[in-house]
Amino acid sequence: MPVAGDLLKSWSIRPGYCFRMVYGKLLQADHCRQPVEWKGIWKDAKGRSHYVETCREHAPKSRVG
Ligand SMILES: [Zn+2]
Repeated sequence: MPVAGDLLKSWSIRPGYCFRMVYGKLLQADHCRQPVEWKGIWKDAKGRSHYVETCREHAPKSRVG
């Protein structure tokens, strides 16, 4: 069972929001609420590129710093 704050495998691009989806208190899927601190090209599991906005925590590790 997931717990609140867990990351979902699914994601959704929404301008102004981190594109990652997390479980809310009622275990509903919701956009990550952290402030956007990174914007750039992110590749999904199938190798397709997407322009995304993410918070610092969910930014691609290879791009941080
Ligand atoms: Zn995030």
